[in-house]
Amino acid sequence: MPRDPRFDVLFEPVRIGPVTAPNRFYQVPHCTGMGYRRPRSLAALREMKAEGGWGTVCTEYTSIHPSSDDEPYPTASLWDDQDIDWHALMVDKVHAHGALAGVELWHGGAASANLYSRETPLGPASLPAGVNDPVQTRAMDKADIRELKRWHVEAAKRAQRAGFDIVYVYAAHHYLIRQFLSPANQRSDEYGGSLENRSRLLRELIVETKEAIGDTCAVAVRFSASTGGEDDDQDTTEPREMLELLSDLPDLWDVTVHDYSYEMGTSRFVEEAGLEAATSWVKGVTDKPVVSVGRFTSPETMLRLVRQGVIDLIGAARPSIADPFLPSKIAEGRDDEIRECIGCNICYIGDQTGTPIRCTQNPTIGEEWRKGWHPEDIPVKGSDAKVLIVGGGPAGLEAAVSLGKRGYEVTLAEARRELGGRVTLESALPGLAEWARVRDWRLNQIGKLPNVEFYRESVVDEEQILEFAADRVVIATGAKWRRDGMGRWHEAPIPGWDTPSVITPDDIMEGVMPTGPVVVFDDDHYYMGGVIAEVLRRAGLDVTLATPANEVSTWTQLTEEQYRIQAKILGLGIVLETGTAVTSVGEGSVTLESIHTGQTKEVEAATVVMTTSRLPQDALYHALADRIAIQRIGDCDAPGTIATAVYSGHRYAREMDTEVPIGVPFRRE
Ligand code: ADP
Ligand code: SF4
Repeated sequence: MPRDPRFDVLFEPVRIGPVTAPNRFYQVPHCTGMGYRRPRSLAALREMKAEGGWGTVCTEYTSIHPSSDDEPYPTASLWDDQDIDWHALMVDKVHAHGALAGVELWHGGAASANLYSRETPLGPASLPAGVNDPVQTRAMDKADIRELKRWHVEAAKRAQRAGFDIVYVYAAHHYLIRQFLSPANQRSDEYGGSLENRSRLLRELIVETKEAIGDTCAVAVRFSASTGGEDDDQDTTEPREMLELLSDLPDLWDVTVHDYSYEMGTSRFVEEAGLEAATSWVKGVTDKPVVSVGRFTSPETMLRLVRQGVIDLIGAARPSIADPFLPSKIAEGRDDEIRECIGCNICYIGDQTGTPIRCTQNPTIGEEWRKGWHPEDIPVKGSDAKVLIVGGGPAGLEAAVSLGKRGYEVTLAEARRELGGRVTLESALPGLAEWARVRDWRLNQIGKLPNVEFYRESVVDEEQILEFAADRVVIATGAKWRRDGMGRWHEAPIPGWDTPSVITPDDIMEGVMPTGPVVVFDDDHYYMGGVIAEVLRRAGLDVTLATPANEVSTWTQLTEEQYRIQAKILGLGIVLETGTAVTSVGEGSVTLESIHTGQTKEVEAATVVMTTSRLPQDALYHALADRIAIQRIGDCDAPGTIATAVYSGHRYAREMDTEVPIGVPFRRE
């Protein structure tokens, strides 16, 4: 189908200083958990974006000097000439598809504890450094500031030699330049105090970087258009005055907001185009092009923001991860095929844990080099095997789509009327509606594949599977929450667990509304305990959430949500008992025990919701494992995240009838 001509505007070139972006699709710098540790993986990942139509592709934050090392988080670096070659590898791959390549030069200042380099952290003043690390910065003197500017210029020249088209001065978030911009910078010299003084370092860096490389490279500035405040009413006063001072100095403004958990907020907390209110003034004070992000997956939203003069370039990190081919799909009138980001931030855990990026929607991200996976291409089938998939959750659906694309004849049987398994159930919980996109994209794809058929309301048993006589059987029957309270804390069932007052999140998702007061025992530590507590509290019940962790939903630190979840839980009036385990269930009460002191107390509880761990539903698999060609995937294999289930289904489909390396199943750097 040809594209809607209204969207032509998205494919107009945009001049950025001495270079021209071929279209308005701009992949902003984003971390990948790769950096200088995994340069080949990184180059292949960035190439995929360019191949998919992103007119500009940037690499991740790139340290300019060992005095800014972010270990254990993986950054890129341009510390010396040794670093040039592997950046050039990425740049060449991006250029091969006609896209511009950008690099975000970075100095963390007080945000870096320098655990790897052991260099003294630097800052505008003597400040606590790193993330709760017991070290402080040296307050930079004039000589330090001169050195910083020299490092920046040297790194910019290396970036130019690597072939980059756009070089950033990174003045946002909580890093060094922003530490100078902050009102907290009350240095007594010309780099602190007044607004003009605080913005002096940024001005000098822009000017000196342009002087050094501005003949061939555009100089972009990443800048916070707000200083914080309420999400929908952020304070933009000072940023506006600063931007007015610097308005036409750089070639491009990449604008964001100060609060990172809002900028890259999950869909539970922030909607598409969430930065619009805080950034829409910027184009009014500069003639230079402006890029900003907003988890854009709708071409209509993109068009509106360009038309209304809010942005010139459609900035994206997550939408380009979930679908590296988003621009091509719009270009070809296939926007119904965009694999839309669900806003879960699983992609961010790679950076947080120092491991390669992964994505709930796109199982191929991060696997481009080490496994040779492509998000849009999959090898044709290796046999005429007919495949039966039992279970239509994320794992079963992904296996069906990918096997179908390979050309296999696939039958999928699902017990329930609705397909989607856990994503269908969980997307009905507060804040998780966008998660249904995992199901919807796959159903849309299956609709285009004549060789994939599915049966709803079909509970398949052992006999039926044997009777169906498929060549391969895939069991994707998922997992159920345990009722007995076993998990990380309890290695044996909790005494009293088998009373009717004990239920699980599955019961609530099936529509059970218990009586209060309720105790939610969360030993899972991801989102479920907090969300279930929210459902029950909103239904008017008295709710206590008890967890052995020291905060609610502690794993969501990695998805940049924990702070917001805890604020929500407390704001709703849910009683939070941290460092606490449920140790027994009685008649109308439970015993809570402090994991630190062993002190116990009885609290009233008409209902207990055990949110501890899950049991794979693998009976069918075990009944048939020795008799037919059968494999289990997804939560039925090992309960995990939705991303894990999708990956498992994809891997099964991709590896069927292929030679998989024995031993380590991927290439290593
Ligand atoms: P995963 O995350 O691994 O995809 P889910 O729990 O989301 O797992 O999905 C499992 C799906 O399997 C559910 O939709 C469930 O209804 C379905 N299912 C479970 N047992 C059977 C069965 N015997 N026959 C058909 N479908 C089944
Ligand atoms: Fe979007 Fe989640 Fe994929 Fe990240 S992991 S790109 S938030 S779908």
